Amino acid sequence: MNPCPHIQSCPLQKLSPTGHTSAPQPAKSKPAIMKKPRTAVRSRHRKQASRQEGREKRVLSSSQVKPPTPNGLARRQEEVVLQASVSPYHLFRGTAEVRAFRENLLRWYDREKRDLPWRRRAEGEVDLDRRAYAVWVSEVMLQQTQVATVIDYYTRWMQKWPTLQDLASASLEGVNQLWAGLGYYSRGRRLHEGARKVVEELGGHVPRTAETLQQLLPGVGRYTAGAIASIAFGQATGVVDGNVVRVLCRVRAIGADSSSALVSQHLWSLAQQLVDPTRPGDLNQAAMELGATVCTPQHPRCSQCPVRSLCRAHQRVEREQLLASRSLPGSPDVEECGECRPQPSPALSGTCSGSLIPIYPTTWLSLCRAGPWPALWAWHLSSPGLRGTWGSLFPAPGSGQCRLCAPPSEPWDPTLGVTNFPRKASRKPPREECSATCVLEQPRAVGGPRILLVQRPNSGLLAGLWEFPSVTTEPSGQRQRQALLRELQRWAGPLPATRLRHLGQVVHTFSHIKLTYEVYGLALEGETPVTTAPPGARWLTREEFHTAAVSTAMKKVFRVYEGRRPGACKGSKRSPVSAPSSWKKPSPGQQLLDSFFRPHIPRDAPSLNSTAQ
Ligand code: SF4
Ligand code: ZN
Repeated sequence: MNPCPHIQSCPLQKLSPTGHTSAPQPAKSKPAIMKKPRTAVRSRHRKQASRQEGREKRVLSSSQVKPPTPNGLARRQEEVVLQASVSPYHLFRGTAEVRAFRENLLRWYDREKRDLPWRRRAEGEVDLDRRAYAVWVSEVMLQQTQVATVIDYYTRWMQKWPTLQDLASASLEGVNQLWAGLGYYSRGRRLHEGARKVVEELGGHVPRTAETLQQLLPGVGRYTAGAIASIAFGQATGVVDGNVVRVLCRVRAIGADSSSALVSQHLWSLAQQLVDPTRPGDLNQAAMELGATVCTPQHPRCSQCPVRSLCRAHQRVEREQLLASRSLPGSPDVEECGECRPQPSPALSGTCSGSLIPIYPTTWLSLCRAGPWPALWAWHLSSPGLRGTWGSLFPAPGSGQCRLCAPPSEPWDPTLGVTNFPRKASRKPPREECSATCVLEQPRAVGGPRILLVQRPNSGLLAGLWEFPSVTTEPSGQRQRQALLRELQRWAGPLPATRLRHLGQVVHTFSHIKLTYEVYGLALEGETPVTTAPPGARWLTREEFHTAAVSTAMKKVFRVYEGRRPGACKGSKRSPVSAPSSWKKPSPGQQLLDSFFRPHIPRDAPSLNSTAQ
């Protein structure tokens, strides 16, 4: 049983996180990351902001905006419902606790924060739109992607398109090309669309608040909007990303499914309560930094954590350990040691008298008033023998359990420690699909070997990227070959069907699809001219292929082709597939030629095991 008393309505509602409307407005709060702006600069910014507000209002009144976000009244109503159904155990109780959290976290962040290119750029940038752009690009790239991977992409991106105007005038092809290998390609496309919208419809100015950012810009959701607004514009708005989910679920011992709407709503409320009005961007970044570097998924370093003293997960572990040690054979009898008496549950400690009534040699009962009678009188059973059965509650008539605690079917697992939090309902496995794809090559084309690539449609999975001609198909069989041949001939005209070889398989998991590529190869014989490809297709050299806007999955496919074509090194670890027996052994001369044309795989080429859209 969880230590949280299962309380149905919150006796501390006035202290609960409902700060959306009372949060300081951006114009009044000074962004902490800014260097002290001079009066003239501030005045210019105010004018800029006021003009910008007018522009945003005009755009918002047009029909070209996303549906309104759940803010204002709707959001407050959600919060009232939420507060009525959770225990105060999962809240921050009072300003002292909130202040301690902010101060500890910010002090740690100032000391320990990583030196990252987007932070450097944003801190050194005075122009608000440029700063917002720097933050926007980094936040979009960091979604679902590791910091280490993003650094190089971010640096190249900002070198190529240092301003929104530069990005707006870029081609989608160029954007896809730079994004290749980063995964979730729609992110780059949306960023490009957003830049165009800012330049063409908003006079080159990025919307200044989380609400307008979310409403006006494609691909900008609640998190990204909050991050840009708080980091670039100093708006006191909290954010919740995967790292913050983990930190807050642990700090407030939230054991319910962290992907549920209820938990999500609660976490956003907590984030809003915690955000520091004087340093909102830093506080948000500090919480994310803590999750990324200290409160990590598998191996949290609690001993180095700046908010350990406020962390309920950590307190729970300590209590479990204490109880375990006291019940070991040979350890002092708990009945004899006053200090070992269980203390009232932290959830009730603010209101419980703490008087313990012995009902058995090692078991105490305490009655605690956690709220107005009759709903919130709690009994509190404590016993080392029960180890962790720490609190329970007389629920009010018709009430149920606290909805933020773990369900009774998933009890505390002592071997997991603080990683008992957060909990996620098991995800649906990705859908399985099969695709047949073929590397069609002219090895002796005039001007050097060429391979055929075709462009994917402009919407859907991997929209606009280039790939080898492919067909979605059944897993194997003659029909697969025939379907693939038809597709190849659609692009390249009549082909020698007998030369189509099956080379192996590549399995790539996208966000929601596990796609198995059946890899084929077809090398055209003799010296063939480079034919003019129809619209939507191109004959590329190997070098062009490696810099083109192709997905990681296609790079894997090409490696299989390279590993299995004549002249390839046998036993290549990169292509763990069996070579077809019909593939001819190449002559030594051919091997030499092939090695000359072997592609250069850049050091920063994405991992074969990467999982991304
Ligand atoms: Fe800090 Fe550990 Fe609590 Fe995470 S679980 S917030 S690392 S004390
Ligand atoms: Zn609870």
